[in-house]
Amino acid sequence: MDFSLIPVLNYHKIELKGDIGITARQPDDFFRDMEYLSEQGFTPVTFRSVGESEVFPDKPVMITFDDGYASVYEHAFSVLSRFGFKAVVFMPASYIGKTNDWDVQFGKKKYRHLSKEQLVSLSAAGHEIAAHGMKHRPFTLFNSKALKAELEESRDILEHITGNPVRSLCYPFGRFNARVIEAVKAAGYQYAMASLYLGAAPAEERNLALRRFNVYRFDSVRIIKKKLKADFNSLVAYRDWLLQLGGRATPLYQHLTNAP
Ligand SMILES: [Zn+2]
Repeated sequence: MDFSLIPVLNYHKIELKGDIGITARQPDDFFRDMEYLSEQGFTPVTFRSVGESEVFPDKPVMITFDDGYASVYEHAFSVLSRFGFKAVVFMPASYIGKTNDWDVQFGKKKYRHLSKEQLVSLSAAGHEIAAHGMKHRPFTLFNSKALKAELEESRDILEHITGNPVRSLCYPFGRFNARVIEAVKAAGYQYAMASLYLGAAPAEERNLALRRFNVYRFDSVRIIKKKLKADFNSLVAYRDWLLQLGGRATPLYQHLTNAP
């Protein structure tokens, strides 16, 4: 199945307030986003749900959550259930049940990640728990041996918790290269999410460099509608590229302080 054909909306935290980060979406806005998808007849899919049916429904869309924040369970889970939607949650395995200490762009405030129990509940409800490395470090920084361990260990931890196979992942900070793609394939992953602007992969590797739009704190339904067209040469894509430039501080910081 070619997942590069379908639009993907990516969220991070779903928080009430107190978060200055542009990627935190307010619960009311998240509700309106889902209501809009429902009204427009979109059907959210996961890698696993499509893998089982081997066909895309009409108007497919994928809803993803990066970084496995506890707020996904607290504020998004009930909304998704209400509309009967399934989502994909990318969880950095070292942070299960722990507090965020790597996302420096949000300053001093710390955020909790999903606990083991919350991951089990989400998985049991049909959401896909997918890999996002161990400590959210760019895969491109690892040597081959460390990368293999990173990919396998994170997969094994999530499979052990949910009892479901983990065949999809998201590259921390969207970073990948040809060597990373080879390692991802060797570790048994079939699908990998990149970010918006790192260029298209060769046709045969498209599922291992999938692109998507982030949903930002201030995005209106009009903007969401544009993002659902999945046009990466559009004005809204250029606008998001500018927004994303600000996010480059974190990998640079990690590289300088605790590169593996
Ligand atoms: Zn992430």
